[in-house]
Amino acid sequence: MAAQRTLCIVKPDAVEKRRSGAILQCIEESGFKLVALKMTHLSRGEAEGFYEVHRQRPFFGELVEFMTRSPVVIAVLERDEAVTAWRDAMGATDPAKAAAGTIRKQFGANVGENATHGSDSLDNARREIAYFFAGTEVSPTA
Ligand code: ADP
Repeated sequence: MAAQRTLCIVKPDAVEKRRSGAILQCIEESGFKLVALKMTHLSRGEAEGFYEVHRQRPFFGELVEFMTRSPVVIAVLERDEAVTAWRDAMGATDPAKAAAGTIRKQFGANVGENATHGSDSLDNARREIAYFFAGTEVSPTA
């Protein structure tokens, strides 16, 4: 199985609760390798650009306010079928509907403040990784 890379953001709610370390531990224990990692406080422009696809959605303003409220931890994760594996590990968007044991069930508060982001396709993973990381900031493929 070919290794893939996907983007993870530990969102402000989880960082504020000091759960970013616990979430990164879950990620590593689920078989992902961390190949890039940083903490940053997103500007409004960075958050709006990242979520551009959601600009027309009713929750866009709320989402940008939330994502810029305090720092986030951004990681590139590598393993076989990384995109699907990370979406599965996170669980449903709404933590109340997420399966037991998933990251959003364990660490998320509600449908907006749901602890983590994960790319939803390989094309988006490539775009999102390039949005946040220069090539020199990501470990080369082994
Ligand atoms: P996912 O992150 O599971 O791919 P979406 O792409 O639909 O979900 O939404 C992006 C993000 O927008 C969600 O992770 C969540 O933080 C926020 N969001 C989604 N739906 C709502 C909503 N109804 N109200 C507030 N925020 C929302």
